[in-house]
Amino acid sequence: MRIQSMTTTDTLDVAATTRQTIELAEAGCEIVRITAPSVRAAKALGPISKAVREAGFKVPLVADIHFLPNAAMEAAKHVEKVRVNPGNYADRKKFQVREYSDSQYKEELERLHESFTPLVLRCKELGRSMRVGTNHGSLSDRVLNRFGDTPRGMAESALEFLRIARDHGYHDIVLSMKSSNPKVMIEAYRLVVCLMNDEEMDYPLHLGVTEAGDGEDARIKSAIGIGSLLLDGLGDTIRVSLTEDPIAEIPVARDMARRALNWWSDVPGKTTYPAELINPFEFQRRPCSENMLSETIRIGEKHPPTVLAHSSHPLKDIQKIVQEVAQIQSVAKDAPIEGLVIEYKEVAEQTLLETLRSSLFGAVSFILVESNAHGTPPAQYREDSPSLVWLSNAACENPNSLEKFLQECENSDCLPALALAAKPMTEETVRLLSQASTPPIITLLPTSGINSVAGYRILAAMLDERGLHFPIWIRNQEDGRLFNKDDSFSARLLDSSILSGSLLCDGLGDMLSVENTGSLDRNRGLAYNILQGARARISKTEFVACPSCGRTLFDLQSTTQLVKDATGHLKGVTIAVMGCIVNGPGEMADADFGYVGSAPGKIDLYVGKNRIKSSIPETEAVDRLVKLIQEEGKWIEP
Ligand code: SF4
Repeated sequence: MRIQSMTTTDTLDVAATTRQTIELAEAGCEIVRITAPSVRAAKALGPISKAVREAGFKVPLVADIHFLPNAAMEAAKHVEKVRVNPGNYADRKKFQVREYSDSQYKEELERLHESFTPLVLRCKELGRSMRVGTNHGSLSDRVLNRFGDTPRGMAESALEFLRIARDHGYHDIVLSMKSSNPKVMIEAYRLVVCLMNDEEMDYPLHLGVTEAGDGEDARIKSAIGIGSLLLDGLGDTIRVSLTEDPIAEIPVARDMARRALNWWSDVPGKTTYPAELINPFEFQRRPCSENMLSETIRIGEKHPPTVLAHSSHPLKDIQKIVQEVAQIQSVAKDAPIEGLVIEYKEVAEQTLLETLRSSLFGAVSFILVESNAHGTPPAQYREDSPSLVWLSNAACENPNSLEKFLQECENSDCLPALALAAKPMTEETVRLLSQASTPPIITLLPTSGINSVAGYRILAAMLDERGLHFPIWIRNQEDGRLFNKDDSFSARLLDSSILSGSLLCDGLGDMLSVENTGSLDRNRGLAYNILQGARARISKTEFVACPSCGRTLFDLQSTTQLVKDATGHLKGVTIAVMGCIVNGPGEMADADFGYVGSAPGKIDLYVGKNRIKSSIPETEAVDRLVKLIQEEGKWIEP
């Protein structure tokens, strides 16, 4: 597994680009990409490469090419790898809607063959490698019209180039299928691997979520996309693309690479499990019966996943629990704690639980009581209290205790929840579960020897195979950790994002709790951010921001922050901040609004793919963006 990043300096500034390349190498970056937006810049790669080698660094350099075959031909002379974008290497994008006949399509492919062949031959002759780097949002008109702006379109776009290279006996190729939407990116990588298998190709993969933005959200999106694929066993190089100093990308990428190596070294167990029913190429939410958790909250496939948070206080500290929840709920109106998880140790705590219940009336919709003790309390329906869900970690140990537990839940005012191990259920367990009057909520009993993603997938497959379409609660717990060698917050963030995100992107999960950061509020926020990253539930503005490179026309980090400050309260709106007009509009994919650098000090504003305002002075651009959002009827006052 190799880690890569990209310089953000102007490539023509040889000294600055050399310096940043060396800094990246010193930080642990193993492949450094440098943009070559012109033949002049491609020529500058020569002295940059020389200076880097003279400084004693062997790190391979990659030229990043869009649109310009001449720049690619020049760059191949100087660096170890050339990245081309199949969406724009031989095609100018005109956004034309056009039906191609088979013969017209064939003619287009012949034209492509002619344009791409010289680079293939040059790389072959010079011993250079190449990345065929497909981006969702910058597919050629030809591919878009035939396959759509879809994972299939992305895969086909790459395959067109791979077939040409194969015709020339050139195989030093790595592929990428990037998108700012982790779901699209996961499906595209899986699909291209499958299609390559059909054609007996096995090129390595470079993984990345593009235009991920900055901060926690960008790390979450990258962890979801890259982590899901690493768990599939896919990926050979990775880049965590951040709108920050590129050095900041390296530790995050290294953390993910370490996890992958850890997972891949696991020897598979001998147990056989039911076949998964997940479609790996197309998102579909897992079918699930509807459950009414409270007056206001329903769960099931038609509803976005519900967020729970686990209180670290014991039940006896009622005041602390109530105060903490009240504080959070007063400021987290768009992303509240919907259900509070409380531990219940013994029947003697019954009175405390009832007091807590009344105290939390209006603050949370339901309380989920986690009990290791057998039995449920004689709870009653009360209009002035949150409803109760009762989780048993032990009821499934034998049929008698399961039957008793389900009966007690039915007699009381509690919805049942069960923690199951990822191992085959007995016939008696299946019979009792299928007869339950209320479908129980199912979560995974942390099991040793299997990572939690696999555990939840097996659980879902086992239930579905038996026709038990019960809701699944994804828990990110201490003992369900995916990688237990690091205890930092960023490690926990990656673990939770990978575990929950990969399941959510496969359509699994009806409830979500993050329970591993030690802070109720952080856990709540992280759960909502993961749901947003996996596009499972939108609770705030979605920002897409390019990581910046030598083409960038303004300070991306500070501008992205200004745009966030002005628009961060617009729930459900996607805003892209892109550094240049060459790639920005194509690569902002499904954004509602775009803020794109068009010339030094000038900004173009977009609604979808349409440029609405041109060459606005940078100093006015954020205000004009706000005005545009107002004109489009998407504005609400903060
Ligand atoms: S969109 Fe951003 S990262 Fe992509 S080429 Fe333009 S400036 Fe560089």
